[in-house]
Amino acid sequence: MAEPKANERMEKIVSLCKRRGFVFQSSEIYGGINGFWDYGPLGAELKRNVKDYWWRSMTQKREDVVGLEATIIMHPKIWQASGHTSTFSDPMVDCLLTKKRFRADQIDPQSGDIHSYTGAHDTVAGKSSSETYSVLIPTGKHPEYARKVARQFYAARGVPAPELLGETIETVKETVRYNPDNGSLLTEPRPFNLMFKTFVGPVESEDNVAYLRPETAQAIFAQFKNVLDVARQKLPFGICQIGKAFRNEINPRNFTFRSREFEQMELEFFIKPDDAAAKSSLTGGPGTEPNWGWEQWHKYWVEQRVQWYESIGLSRDVLDFHWQKKEELAHYAKATVDILYKFPFGTQELEGIAARGNYDLTQHQTFSGKSMEYFDEETKTRFVPHVIEPSAGVDRLVLALICNAYTEEEITDEKGVKETRVVMKLHPRVAPVKVGIFPLLKNKPELVKKAQEVRDLLRAEMPVFYDDAGAIGRRYRRQDEAGTPFGVTIDFDTLGEKPELKDTVTLRDRDTMQQSRIAIGDLLPFLLSKIR
Ligand code: ATP
Repeated sequence: MAEPKANERMEKIVSLCKRRGFVFQSSEIYGGINGFWDYGPLGAELKRNVKDYWWRSMTQKREDVVGLEATIIMHPKIWQASGHTSTFSDPMVDCLLTKKRFRADQIDPQSGDIHSYTGAHDTVAGKSSSETYSVLIPTGKHPEYARKVARQFYAARGVPAPELLGETIETVKETVRYNPDNGSLLTEPRPFNLMFKTFVGPVESEDNVAYLRPETAQAIFAQFKNVLDVARQKLPFGICQIGKAFRNEINPRNFTFRSREFEQMELEFFIKPDDAAAKSSLTGGPGTEPNWGWEQWHKYWVEQRVQWYESIGLSRDVLDFHWQKKEELAHYAKATVDILYKFPFGTQELEGIAARGNYDLTQHQTFSGKSMEYFDEETKTRFVPHVIEPSAGVDRLVLALICNAYTEEEITDEKGVKETRVVMKLHPRVAPVKVGIFPLLKNKPELVKKAQEVRDLLRAEMPVFYDDAGAIGRRYRRQDEAGTPFGVTIDFDTLGEKPELKDTVTLRDRDTMQQSRIAIGDLLPFLLSKIR
């Protein structure tokens, strides 16, 4: 089938997410709240599967990573030490006419004619505004449009019938100083701190200000010493955490991609400085070398993370990589690679993997006055460990999985009628429901009883969906849209109509629609091998 255009595709995905209960707008009955999203029954399972699988892969299956679960509100000094209080900001501009706010670096460059005015006055009441104002319109567009916008601008400033004075016109290329929606001049860019503020305790004073964490990572640094003391780990080793983060984004957009409340999955993998590592003979884990420096560890984690994405169905050809250039890097970072996904609205970041040196621990050592040093028994030296940080967004990944799974296929039904099949080709590991259970007919008690037995057998190990309503083809289609990878149908052969097929069921594969016969006794091991 012809691929729907990007916007159309995204619209269909958003509509399926609502219709099937993957994602809802937060507070929808009150008109929604910009930048906040809820996960419905299918979305909640999908998201949980993603987090559980990350947690299993990153810590439970490894010897060298342990977990942490810290609070969302922490001591405000943490954000001073990390630099978030002073520098965690985006440049923001406001439309002088509508007051709409934009992120300055997200304004698309525009070309056209700038019409500028030096002032305006109301001849009747004698009011005037000396503010200079300009409007950008495409070259050749009737200048009256620019004048109309300018009149609205001065009128909004209390000049009821403005006359425009000293009009000048200048043609410009690629400017980002004007509102792309209406041509109005924008304010100069100003930094806007993205942290949500609140107060701890009953008194709303400056002393009681606290922040909702804008990332989970800083808690890991702040608890580094405590974890080191209890975890019986030697460098290199990691601490990981999954949890909510909050950023007061200026322009939340692209569905859940840029939200104001979201979840992160972060690992801080602590390593020795290169000179100490070079002398080392202890290993950090399978497939690694004892004397690796930061560059090898950084490459190792990039590869690990890409393999992880592949293992939930995001192949290398739907991913892309951005190695940050020197001028893009944070001043303390030695290297950062962004793993990107090719979303319908553009190729955008899923995860950043940064080699951060020992910046964070050193900052916390300075601000807290507590030592963050590690004593290396091998080399008999003391140092502040360095770190490699793979930092991923859960919601962005869930969105990537949904976009990647959405497929429209033209198929021909039993009566020869063509129809469009919408199928969510989610990897069985992350699919919300693993198997649909269908008695062929709902009015045959023997079929229903057997189907319920199969349901109970499987439900002990995985989420299943029992559906006895409507034609079997319709029931398959509903599960296709929910992304359920397998369907099991209990029919008369299961009951022994053909004795050789007694206690077997039809197993349908969502993606190929192929059907095969399988013994009920083999179902559980087969399905478990696919979903784990
Ligand atoms: P961006 O440049 O897109 O704002 P970032 O580089 O600031 O992202 P990081 O601070 O590196 O992001 O955060 C790590 C991860 O957290 C990102 O790769 C992304 O998956 C996720 N993330 C960051 N901001 C948001 C957001 N507003 N909504 C959803 N996920 C986010």
